[in-house]
Amino acid sequence: SLTIGIVGLPNVGKSTLFNALTRNNVLAENYPFATIEPNTGIVPLPDKRLQPLAELVHTQKIIPATVTFVDIAGIVKGASEGEGLGNKFLANIREADAICEVVRAFEDDDIVHVNGKVDPSEDIETIDTELILADLQTIETALPRLEKDLRGRKITPAYLDAVKTAQSILESGETIDHAANAKKIDKADVYDLHLLTAKPFIYVFNVDDDELQNDELKQRLSSSVAPAPSIFLNAQFEADLTELDEADAKEMLEDAGLSESGLDQLARVGFDILGLQTFLTAGEKEVRAWQIHQGWTAPQAAGVIHTDFEKGFIKAEIVSYDDLLAAGSYAKVKEEGKLRLEGKEYVMQDGDIVEFRFNV
Ligand code: GDP
Repeated sequence: SLTIGIVGLPNVGKSTLFNALTRNNVLAENYPFATIEPNTGIVPLPDKRLQPLAELVHTQKIIPATVTFVDIAGIVKGASEGEGLGNKFLANIREADAICEVVRAFEDDDIVHVNGKVDPSEDIETIDTELILADLQTIETALPRLEKDLRGRKITPAYLDAVKTAQSILESGETIDHAANAKKIDKADVYDLHLLTAKPFIYVFNVDDDELQNDELKQRLSSSVAPAPSIFLNAQFEADLTELDEADAKEMLEDAGLSESGLDQLARVGFDILGLQTFLTAGEKEVRAWQIHQGWTAPQAAGVIHTDFEKGFIKAEIVSYDDLLAAGSYAKVKEEGKLRLEGKEYVMQDGDIVEFRFNV
């Protein structure tokens, strides 16, 4: 499943947020939910379509797509040179598909800030710098080997050039993700280096709860990291939300003028930024959401369920979620001619409900 690593300076609300994530009672009631390691939580990807679909096909069992969050503690100023940035930290962050950087924007004199004052831009710079330094070390270690590989013609000059471009970007204090967004480098060209800052970044600003509607503040913060996506939430508010049942949580969100919890947004944005989408299967046994990449064809999607489905793919019987729900039953939607048979070339659309036909 999609793995998002949560990083940030100490005392910015990471643990509060992570605990809220992994004690999400509202979801845990309805969905399977698990914690593997103390710093890892698997949470369901929120999907409003699953419950109505389960009712329509008369099943109780719902299996959502999941997002794995890893709480990666240990970044402080100077971390890349020693203590904080241990092996576990690096391993955790390398395994993540995306980096969620939690930034403190809330004021509270009782909560000590590691740099002495609340300054989101400076905090972002501190964190990004540590990750950049770690990447520079990776490149410096790799370069002698790459020079040798070039002489031995194991790599192309173009590859070495790309690595050097990455190096100069990092030396200028910019992350590879940011530079790639600005088209200064193609991430694919340096994929082999597995650089930390080449992962997509999502910035989570932990703001005071009475600032959640402060558009001017949000505009200012998000433009400081754009085009990377920003999410605004209040970690304590998110934690409180997870203590409530579904109806009360919904009311609390509405009272705060919000349509979606910060945690739901985070899972959704993470899914989006990595170019993922879901398709659905629905039967009496279960309703299930499956994670695929945008642009995948029907046989590729079939392969996510079982490799045999991909190998023996014949056709996919597909109906869109909206059509099925509008019709109210499979019989009706069939009658309306909206149940389609699609072949090998078909590109999956978000919300497709599928039954694969295959040879074994
Ligand atoms: P971490 O070190 O980044 O994991 O930070 P914690 O989640 O442990 O939070 C540090 C302290 O800040 C704790 O005392 C939290 O209760 C408090 N805290 C976290 N989020 C907020 C917030 O949004 N507002 C306020 N006022 N305090 C918060």
